[in-house]
Amino acid sequence: MHPAHRPGVKPLPPLRDVIARHGLSASKALGQNFLLDSQLLSRIARVPGPLDGERVYEVGPGPGGLTRALLEAGALVTAVERDRRCLPALAEIDEASGGRLRVIEGDALAIDEAAEVGEGVHIVANLPYNVGTALLVRWLGGERWPPFWRSLTLMFQREVAERIVAKPDTSAYGRLAVLAQWRSEARLAMKVHRSAFVPPPKVMSAVVHILPQRAPEDVRAATLERLTAAAFGQRRKMLRQSLKALPGALEALDIAGIDSARRAETLDVAEFTALARCLS
Ligand code: SAM
Repeated sequence: MHPAHRPGVKPLPPLRDVIARHGLSASKALGQNFLLDSQLLSRIARVPGPLDGERVYEVGPGPGGLTRALLEAGALVTAVERDRRCLPALAEIDEASGGRLRVIEGDALAIDEAAEVGEGVHIVANLPYNVGTALLVRWLGGERWPPFWRSLTLMFQREVAERIVAKPDTSAYGRLAVLAQWRSEARLAMKVHRSAFVPPPKVMSAVVHILPQRAPEDVRAATLERLTAAAFGQRRKMLRQSLKALPGALEALDIAGIDSARRAETLDVAEFTALARCLS
């Protein structure tokens, strides 16, 4: 669609005013650190690519800064938010966007999002660290591939973001890297300084962008998950030790031609999938 035809969002009051008017003092228990800088929010909303007419699933919209940016980019947004205090502010955004925002009140970990949003959505979220990692593992897992989502744009603590995009032979490389890279492409899209958040968290953040790719043939996700859990569960040990308890793993090392004296962090993603294929 030509930008001139974009549905648009009617002017809304500054987020600071919205937060004050609706009494949205940040709750530590809900991991609330809000982003208020509209330029930064627009940059994040551009990470998935052009969103005009695209469907977006946003987790944890809070007062709706990122939600506004996504709607301004022309998206149709379904958002799930746990904190009901945010609902009136989100209703105002829905109104201003001509009904392009649907809000589900609830826990993102408890809903069947694929059933709610359907196929081909872009997922965008700025979540508390533990919730974000749990959802990421869920979205990257499962036997069904390609998944219901078209892209993931997720804010994490920088250290977690670095683990997701890590390469072998680094201390950041582990289960999360293999899970994120064996049938997806994961990149660090932007770094975000802690001072961009209100209140500022203790650590720096970063946005990770993940796109699904073709899955290697004959590899079960469940097998790869068991394999990486065992291998990185004792990452300092040789594979012959760390994989000992996994039935068939030592034979699989042999068949795949991987030296059992190596340690998990030296295996690249292709070697892990080759091993999982032998085990599957
Ligand atoms: N997206 C907003 C922004 O960027 O300013 C808010 C970000 S804040 C870090 C995280 C948001 O996720 C909060 O609004 C919080 O209430 C919400 N949240 C936390 N846990 C959640 C869960 N399990 N399900 C849905 N929302 C959750």
